[in-house]
Amino acid sequence: MTELPVARAALAAWYEIAKRDLPWRRTRDPYAIWISEIMLQQTRVATVIPYYERFLALYPTVDALAQAPEPELLAAWAGLGYYSRARNLQAAAKTIVALGAFPRDHSILRTLPGIGDYTAAAVASIAFGHPHAVVDGNVVRVLARFLAETGDISQSATKSRLRLAADEFLDPAQPSRHNQAVMELGATVCTPRDPQCAKCPLANGCQAHEKGLARELPIKLSKTVIRRVERSLLVVIRNGNILLWQRPPEAAILSGFWELPEPHQLPNAKIGRALHLFKHSITNHIYTFQVVEGSVRRVPSPLEWVSPDRLSTLPLSTTTRKALAGLTQL
Ligand code: SF4
Repeated sequence: MTELPVARAALAAWYEIAKRDLPWRRTRDPYAIWISEIMLQQTRVATVIPYYERFLALYPTVDALAQAPEPELLAAWAGLGYYSRARNLQAAAKTIVALGAFPRDHSILRTLPGIGDYTAAAVASIAFGHPHAVVDGNVVRVLARFLAETGDISQSATKSRLRLAADEFLDPAQPSRHNQAVMELGATVCTPRDPQCAKCPLANGCQAHEKGLARELPIKLSKTVIRRVERSLLVVIRNGNILLWQRPPEAAILSGFWELPEPHQLPNAKIGRALHLFKHSITNHIYTFQVVEGSVRRVPSPLEWVSPDRLSTLPLSTTTRKALAGLTQL
């Protein structure tokens, strides 16, 4: 990488002026930074902000998180999806409490549940100023363009080259600012479809910009197959109570969450009018849910009647919350 000090300085100067004022940028508390990094995995910044603020108000310390009752924790996380993140957070919080202090070393952070290389590097650099380069999708895109890397970024050889480039580009004197600046550039200027090279602090020296390849890079050859699935959810209400079921502890996904039943769980239900449709995406699946009214004579296990008061205290899956949104009977 040529002119590294110049590029780093330009990036740092840009970041000081252009950075967004985000709540996790106002703290050096490793706990708060860790929570924000976990929430930001797979979830957009605008969605995360209110969750982050509520979560820290509920659980302001590692101890508070370690002691949180699981149903309450899952309810606080409901809407962010990928609930294994919440469970891993609590498992890691319990380990940190047992350690007696928040780990500062990348190698120890890396051993905690739910903390991979990216999160360990982010916490070590942002909270503790340790020189570890973060490599996420934004960083890969910025570096692939800056270097005009034409390898497929889903291939391990390309990933390794970009990992080395990130380490080389890192400002060892200011790793926190540098890491956040590269990610911010990828999120706001060097965006996937519309790179704003005219506003970019790295334009002078960016090889993709020089070669007119900014929009062509990075190259990712493996295409994800999108699957579309149609499903139904039943809303069965009697005397103001609604029929729900709780996923068992051994469920592979969403264990402990409450959900509306699907028709196969109530084979004797009388199906009524359609209430509404909504879409829900999980990784490479796009689900279309039809929400319909139903009525039953008998309630088979594990379904049970839930009162409106109790409903507000239960961890509900995102699909159930979407299905219930706007229903006036509850
Ligand atoms: S000059 Fe353009 S392509 Fe290069 S890093 Fe900046 S925004 Fe991305």
